[in-house]
Amino acid sequence: MIHPHHSALDVVIAIDIGGTTVKGAAVDAAGTVLARQTTSTFDAERDAYASVVAIARQLVDEAAAAGYTTAGIGIATPGLVDPASGTVRFAANLGWDAFPLRGLLEAEFQVAVYVGHDARTAALAERVAHGAGASGTEASASYDPAYDNALIVPIGTGVSSAVVTGGVLVEGATGAAGELGHMQVVPNGALCTCGQHGCIEAYASGTTILERYLERGGTTASSTQEIASVLDTDPVAARVWADAVDALAIGLAGITAVLDPAVIVIGGGVSAAGDTLIDPLHEAVSARLGWRSTPRIEQSALGALGGLIGAAILGWADRVPDAGFARQTLRSLSSAPQGAADA
Ligand SMILES: [Zn+2]
Repeated sequence: MIHPHHSALDVVIAIDIGGTTVKGAAVDAAGTVLARQTTSTFDAERDAYASVVAIARQLVDEAAAAGYTTAGIGIATPGLVDPASGTVRFAANLGWDAFPLRGLLEAEFQVAVYVGHDARTAALAERVAHGAGASGTEASASYDPAYDNALIVPIGTGVSSAVVTGGVLVEGATGAAGELGHMQVVPNGALCTCGQHGCIEAYASGTTILERYLERGGTTASSTQEIASVLDTDPVAARVWADAVDALAIGLAGITAVLDPAVIVIGGGVSAAGDTLIDPLHEAVSARLGWRSTPRIEQSALGALGGLIGAAILGWADRVPDAGFARQTLRSLSSAPQGAADA
């Protein structure tokens, strides 16, 4: 029997657009990564869209050289996203305003294109990895019902989140739900890139943790992982880390009070700090929720790759990828040589 939509030699191109880098991968129906590329989002000659096209073109060509046909493209993008039209209504970091991303890419590559919000796409990957099925309804052997009421918090260049409540990924009235990074938690606090003062993101993103450490005379660090590794011996590192934990804890305790999640999943590049982040965060959230139990707070197994894995799931949407697909994509991406670029 011939399947109408796909063959064993089909791939989708998954692309995760970040404020710093654009990551891409060509992924087959089993979740195996055939090719992988990472580039800076901006350079002297290229804007964000040109970087996306360059990565996609390179991956389509690499897949073709290996005998594969591109069956679709899945994209995770920051900003206010309308998934139905594939338009990015606004993305300050990318310079996009009413930007018809799907329409432009479909015209360029002549394949179906699916566009999702980055944090919600990462949340989709978490849910599929925990057995919910891409549509969020089919249970499987690895199904974890906690992910039906979950807060997924990718922390990288910025701080974002996706809210799942009653099994529904919440988009909000204008597609702007989950902007945890711009919740104000310190009155008259540090200036944020959004123009407000005291946002969580001004203390707890990978970018601001590093900036604040260096501003205060920190000496050893070139990454948040390095800062996390010297907390016991470097008081500047310890102070900056504690500020990040406190800012996150205020936000997470507030959201817990309102939404009662079963699990809070910390993802993105900063989550690589593991228990160095999760343990003090759990303690700080618990201290603010003395009147009730604290939800599980876990390090994402997908880490900085959540958005890219979610983009592959979007690209294969009509196949309804399962937990096995998510695990294979994670394994395949983790063993690929460009993994170093994901921090
Ligand atoms: Zn802000």
